[in-house]
Amino acid sequence: MSLDMSILHKNAIGVTDEESLKQFTYIEKAKGYVAELEKELGRKPTACVVTFGCQMNAKDSEKLIGILVSIGYESVETEDADFVIYNTCTVRDNADQRVLGRLGYVKSLHKKRPWMKTAICGCMMQEKTAVEKIQKSYRFVNLIFGTHNLYKFAELLCQMFESDRMIIDIWEKTDRIVEQLPISRKYSFKSGVNIMFGCNNFCTYCIVPYVRGRERSRTPKDIIRECEELAADGVKEVMLLGQNVDSYGIGLSDEDKISFPELLDEVCKVEGIERVRFMTPHPKDMSVDLIDAIVRNPKVARHIHLPLQSGSTEILKRMNRHYTKESYLQLVDLIREKLPDAAITTDIIVGFPGEKDSDVDETIDVVRKAGFDNAFTFIYSKRTGTPAASFEDQVSEEDAKRNFNRLLKAVQETARLQSGKLEGTVERVLVEDINEQDSNLVTGRMSNNTLVHFPGDESLIGTFVDVHLDECHGFYYTGTMV
Ligand code: SF4
Repeated sequence: MSLDMSILHKNAIGVTDEESLKQFTYIEKAKGYVAELEKELGRKPTACVVTFGCQMNAKDSEKLIGILVSIGYESVETEDADFVIYNTCTVRDNADQRVLGRLGYVKSLHKKRPWMKTAICGCMMQEKTAVEKIQKSYRFVNLIFGTHNLYKFAELLCQMFESDRMIIDIWEKTDRIVEQLPISRKYSFKSGVNIMFGCNNFCTYCIVPYVRGRERSRTPKDIIRECEELAADGVKEVMLLGQNVDSYGIGLSDEDKISFPELLDEVCKVEGIERVRFMTPHPKDMSVDLIDAIVRNPKVARHIHLPLQSGSTEILKRMNRHYTKESYLQLVDLIREKLPDAAITTDIIVGFPGEKDSDVDETIDVVRKAGFDNAFTFIYSKRTGTPAASFEDQVSEEDAKRNFNRLLKAVQETARLQSGKLEGTVERVLVEDINEQDSNLVTGRMSNNTLVHFPGDESLIGTFVDVHLDECHGFYYTGTMV
């Protein structure tokens, strides 16, 4: 395709990657289609991106909205829009059901509005059976694409506008990362920054490596450029995102290759970025170097989310997690020793195939010994396509629920012991929002990720302020600005 540089979107200035330039020409073309629609409707067409799942999907949705806004749509929050895009998740079976339920509602809207468009993308679309189901039962859907070709959204939109048929474009894998496309951030003051995509770990319960592909790292140059641009745009906090940030660097050329701790050092040097978070480290890979990098960089948030999944070494082996109860606890001890002010949170699965009460006892033992500040607990959800789904010794719902309640009790007791430790101290918080229950209060987030509510107004949103923590209420504090 020959590129007409004269019509490129203003955001394309400085873009050098050929694929990105190509996509900018499609953005220009798609603008024409949206302008026609606007004329027809006599108003600006609206688009709604509905996001399911994790931070990665949230970040992808910002990219989708960036393109939609660039081509002339108004981004809205309700599905009562001219264009609805479902960015799906497939980590749990019921996530699929939720999307299909929503499609039923949208179908009735399509009947009333012939110009309406619906697209589905994300992890669920990487599964053949899900796509077949939509093809068969939801024929009104206009566009289906997957996780690997999201950067082609503008091109796919053009195809959608030019065709009456359902456009389906799913790739099994990719090794490319396309940079510098438009993005519309949800918050003006904080942003996620992808540092890598995909996962090589193949935990036996997890579908992610199958739907997001193998690990690919962005170059440090691209990551730092994005952080600098965000800082110039007023962003104060970034969250570096990857399924397993400790293995950042895989696949980079010798010239570009740096480790994740080195990347943290570089991001912390970006002027204007005052706080750096990251998600998610893997207990099998988290290194002393990384802990030391956090220690030497006060900008790095004092919060480590370290997914445990199970405290039983036997179950961890079946989960293919590559660490033991003991090595996990040693890691927690090291973090506590070097970063005494850090909050440690975790994810735990109960009811994994073959799990006995004694395995859950081991998990509860880790919860107590590690003293988690919080734990996100889940009942195991059988995910078709993963090895664990075909394990024969599936746990009954009744046993899983009983053990879930035992675990939850332990988690709550431990979290209660941890909470309140900072009562009476002054903490620096980033103000994020007006309090949902009381508009005289604002809500800020501390370095350790705990929320604090205190008197304030809208003008504080996006600024860092010092707050005296007056009282702890379990998972949050109330305070007073000093
Ligand atoms: S590390 Fe395991 S749980 Fe996390 S995304 Fe990779 S396979 Fe899934």
